[in-house]
Amino acid sequence: MTTDPGQRGWTSRTLAAQALGHIDEASRAVVPPIHLSTTFIRDPDNQYRSGNIYSRPDNVTVREAEAVIAALEGAASAMMFGSGMSAATALFLALSPGDHVVAPEVMYWSLRNWLMTEATRWGLTVTLVDMTDLAALRAAIVPGRTRLVWAETPSNPLWSVTDIAETAAIAHQAGAVLAVDSTCATPILTRPLSLGADIVMHSATKYLNGHSDVLAGALASAREDGLWERVRRNRSTLGQVLAPLEAFLLIRGMRTLPVRVAAACGSAMTLAERLSGHAAVSEVLYPGLAAHPGHEVARRQMEGGFGGMLSIRLKGGERAAIATAARVELWKRATSLGGVESLIEHRASIEGAGSPCPPDLLRLSTGIEDPADLYADLDRALRAANA
Ligand code: PLP
Repeated sequence: MTTDPGQRGWTSRTLAAQALGHIDEASRAVVPPIHLSTTFIRDPDNQYRSGNIYSRPDNVTVREAEAVIAALEGAASAMMFGSGMSAATALFLALSPGDHVVAPEVMYWSLRNWLMTEATRWGLTVTLVDMTDLAALRAAIVPGRTRLVWAETPSNPLWSVTDIAETAAIAHQAGAVLAVDSTCATPILTRPLSLGADIVMHSATKYLNGHSDVLAGALASAREDGLWERVRRNRSTLGQVLAPLEAFLLIRGMRTLPVRVAAACGSAMTLAERLSGHAAVSEVLYPGLAAHPGHEVARRQMEGGFGGMLSIRLKGGERAAIATAARVELWKRATSLGGVESLIEHRASIEGAGSPCPPDLLRLSTGIEDPADLYADLDRALRAANA
């Protein structure tokens, strides 16, 4: 790359569309080649001037994907991993046994389970708090021991909103780092680092890729400090790096990120409004609705929309929720989120015991289909399930 596109003031939409405008030096290709080689030639004088030695520390295609994410997040550096869980756990494992971390009660369930079991066995102490309650967060901090505050906003699957700037101030006052799982906000709607967070994490499996065909994770950091270097060393040694083919597909997916996110946000807002008046629905959880408790914070820290994720609670309880999911035709009954196809899920079934998710809840990941078709399909299923 001959210029730094991030410095030119181009918008995220422009940077994403051209994947930073990278042109392959060898072929002059506009679409980057996939570098599959695991090993690289050493110079005759025993140096590795290409910067490539072996593909476990990283690889060329992965570095290109990282450059796009770093530009979108305004980060000093980004690192790709084989999954979102791999990215998140890599950060926690770069802490030291005995360190204390604070995480939200409402967060991606699998990471919460890992924190409360394996991470605790490994030596971290973990306190879960209601991250929307800043007084509770302050009270959870252990002076001198809290090293990391983990936030997720909007948080899965209740879509509560954490005030990133306030949370960063509290974490920093305690000498801790703030990391934000921004998977559902995407760098198009929220840039946590610009609000004071230190590290942002994505399950790139979701919106960044957007086509439900790549498992990937990302961390992006405001600084290249000691913690960041420990994450890099662990990734390199443990082989957690993303594979080149996945990195290529991810770059292709990210080119359309802004238009996909805009479409999903528009449809989610339409659905949230229409479902709010539905006879079978007791509550719609969506930060875009004025009645949502996190709406004011979301308005401040989300730009261009409130995301493609919403949940509905059904008056008919768990039975009606499962029956509704059974009757949709256009929505796909599947886990995950952030793809071009809309997904519906009875979340309590997958989260199991200890989940804060109520049994009457259906999680909706809005894709890019026509919102009128999405509403009609859901409305028909809701009516049939409640007949
Ligand atoms: N964070 C959030 C908010 C998620 O929804 C998920 C997956 O559903 C993850 C992290 C974990 O990502 P992955 O499935 O890519 O490991």
